[in-house]
Amino acid sequence: MQMTKIKELPAILADQIAAGEVVERPASVVKELVENSIDAGSTQISITVEEAGLALIQVTDNGQGIAADEVKLAFRRHSTSKLVDRHDLFRIKTLGFRGEALPSIASVAEVILATAAIDGQGTQIRIRGGKQLEQKIIARPQGTQVQVKSLFFNTPARLKYLKSPQTELAVISDIVDRLALSHPEIAFSFKNNDRLLLQTAGNRNLQQTISAIYGIKNARQMLAIKNENLDFKVSGFVSLPKLTRATKNYISLLLNGRYIRNYQLANAVIKGYGSKLMVGRYPLAVIQIELDPVLVDVNVHPAKQEVRISKEEQLMQLITQTIYARIFQENLIPDALDNL
Ligand code: ADP
Ligand code: MG
Repeated sequence: MQMTKIKELPAILADQIAAGEVVERPASVVKELVENSIDAGSTQISITVEEAGLALIQVTDNGQGIAADEVKLAFRRHSTSKLVDRHDLFRIKTLGFRGEALPSIASVAEVILATAAIDGQGTQIRIRGGKQLEQKIIARPQGTQVQVKSLFFNTPARLKYLKSPQTELAVISDIVDRLALSHPEIAFSFKNNDRLLLQTAGNRNLQQTISAIYGIKNARQMLAIKNENLDFKVSGFVSLPKLTRATKNYISLLLNGRYIRNYQLANAVIKGYGSKLMVGRYPLAVIQIELDPVLVDVNVHPAKQEVRISKEEQLMQLITQTIYARIFQENLIPDALDNL
């Protein structure tokens, strides 16, 4: 084969390559857009999808918005407002920081973003397959709305790999649940084809958020936990030993407001039940973990669901001991679920 000269990839190709990692399926788009809304300080986030996200994914927030002169930049790769100096990467407090989501999504779909940083003074931009189609001034309230259509129109292999609409919707629903659990201070609503699938109050009450997601009956059978050591604060809710599921998927681990997957920590939760769980049964649990951001490396995978935690052993012990103490205390009385 004849070698050709080394050259930099055109931006659109680089974006599509990044999209391969960041935008796996409709649920990844929902996750990235909602995380941006959370990072923007929103108190209300509405998610609407049509045909399980293949026809439309729309996320509307009341966050800080994007200034007119920065809208274009938001779609440039490695452009972010979240890392200011070189030390920030080692103490990340936002969910995003890689500046990859918007350019990646816009490279494999049509994106219409309407935003305003100041009430009434908005911008709308439309990009399809990485090409800007229009940008105009609009009047809208402060906040941002992103619409994603024709997802994977130019990457047929990705489109083919998708599962049935029911499965894709279930994956989206799962992501929305975790995002809502991670942020009880934000009012979420989630609709598919005009059907309301989730609504949370956004009143900071985690147990009420759990109730909105898993039902009031289950929420009433959860025990509050709270503990801390020098490095970690652990709080949240765990189910009574009699309330179980056949998978570990109902154990949500939330690290500084970020939903993470972590086999060791999930097992630390299960271990807290000692021998009280039947074989093959797992608890429902929502575990909020707070720690100094320097103790966690979130820059492990583009989707940031896997993280590296220093002193993970100590954290596992804290989780297990806290749950054990609660499950094995004499009177297992669930915390009253008021205001419902
Ligand atoms: P990242 O989140 O890693 O910074 P993104 O590509 O997801 O990268 O977003 C790029 C930038 O666009 C963000 O840093 C932010 O400044 C801006 N942005 C995106 N979505 C929103 C939103 N919903 N509200 C306000 N700003 C946003
Ligand atoms: Mg982002």
